[in-house]
Amino acid sequence: MAAGLYPYFLPLTGHEGTTVTLGDQELVMCGSNNYLGLTSDPRVKKAAAEALDLYGTSCTGSRFLNGNLALHDLLEAELADFYGKPAAAVFSTGYQANLGVISALAGRHDMVFADSDAHASIVDGSVLSGAKLRRFRHNDADALGRRLAAAPEGAGRLVVVDGVYSMEGDLCALPELVATSRRYGARIVVDDAHGLGVLDGGRGTTSYFGLTDQVDLITVTFSKSLASLGGAVVGSEEVVHFLKHHARSLIFSASATPASAAAALAALRILRAEPWRAERAQENADYIRRGLARLGVSSGASSTPVVPLRTRGVVETLLLWRRLVDRGVYTNPVLPPAASPRLRLSFMATHTTDHLDRVLEALAAEADMFLGADEPDGSDET
Ligand code: PMP
Repeated sequence: MAAGLYPYFLPLTGHEGTTVTLGDQELVMCGSNNYLGLTSDPRVKKAAAEALDLYGTSCTGSRFLNGNLALHDLLEAELADFYGKPAAAVFSTGYQANLGVISALAGRHDMVFADSDAHASIVDGSVLSGAKLRRFRHNDADALGRRLAAAPEGAGRLVVVDGVYSMEGDLCALPELVATSRRYGARIVVDDAHGLGVLDGGRGTTSYFGLTDQVDLITVTFSKSLASLGGAVVGSEEVVHFLKHHARSLIFSASATPASAAAALAALRILRAEPWRAERAQENADYIRRGLARLGVSSGASSTPVVPLRTRGVVETLLLWRRLVDRGVYTNPVLPPAASPRLRLSFMATHTTDHLDRVLEALAAEADMFLGADEPDGSDET
C-alpha cells in the first residue's frame, strides 16, 4: 500500500460517469460497467429522486412479505415485455438473482454445467444448490456435450453460461451451446449482465443470436447498463412463479430500494428508446481496439465494450495500473486466480473522442508493458 500499488477499494470523491475524482485528480473512467452512461442521466436521477420522495429510502423488508411495491411489479412487467418472455422476477442484485435461480432450480440429484469462465455468482449458486457442478472448457460445445452425455440418467441438467464474458469481452457461443443443451434435454440459463444494453441495439446476447425463445431463462443485473442496483430473471410464467416462492435470496433479503427500482425502470425505457447508446458504446470500444492494433497491443477476443489488455505479469499489472492513474486513466487490474494478469477497460456510450484519445495516448506511452498482438498470453484460463 505504501508503494501506491494497492489498486482496490479506491475512495472516489467524485463519480460523473465518464470521469471520476481520486484525491485531487480527475481520471477518465475506463473501469466501469456504466455502458450507456446513464448513471448521471438527468431522467434516471429524476426518477430515482421521485421514488425516494414518494416511498422513502427503503422498503425495509423482503418483497415476499412487506417490501413489494407496485414499482417492483411494473419493472418486472416491462422487463418481461422487453424480452418478449411471459414473466420476470426482480431481485436485489444480479448476484442474488443467479444465486436464487440456480439454487432453487437444481437439487442434490441434479447437475449444473457451467462454462469455465462463468461468473462467480453462477458458481456460488451451483454450490449452494447441492447439485454436482461440472465446468466445461470456455465456449466449447463439444466439451459440454461430453459432460452432458456422462450425466446419470434421471438427473436434472442445467446449463449456465454468461452472454458476454466480463474478463475478456467475448461473446458466448450461444447457437452451439443451445443446440447441445437441447440434444441432451438440458435447460439453459444465460446470464446477460454484460450483454443487456450493449448487443443488438441493447436487446442483449440472446436477441443478437436470434435465440431468446430458445433460452429457458435469462438473468440480468441492473448495475451495468441499467445504471442502478438490482437484478432479475425472465422466463416462463410457471418457472418465474416457482422462483418467486423458492429463491431464498429473494424471499429472505430486503427488496431493491425504491430509488434503485425506479432508476432501473427509467434506464430500461431510455435503453429501448435510444438504441444509439448501445451502438456508440460499441463504436467507442472499436475506436480503442483500432488504436491498440496500431500500437501492436492485443485486445484478445474482445468484441464488446469490455477490452482486456494482457500484461507481462502480476507486478507489471500493478505498475502499469499506477502509471495509467498518474496519466489520468482509471482501469481495473485483474490478477490470478480471477484470470490471467491483465488490465480490464470498459467503454461507455458517453465517452467523447477526447476521452478516448487521452486513453490511447496514455496507453501508447506505456505500450511496452503490454503483450504484443502476436505474443502468446500464457493464460491460466482453461
Ligand atoms: N453476472 C455477471 C456476469 C457479472 O459480471 C456480475 C457483476 N459483476 C453479476 C452477475 C452480479 O451483478 P450485481 O452487481 O448486480 O450483483
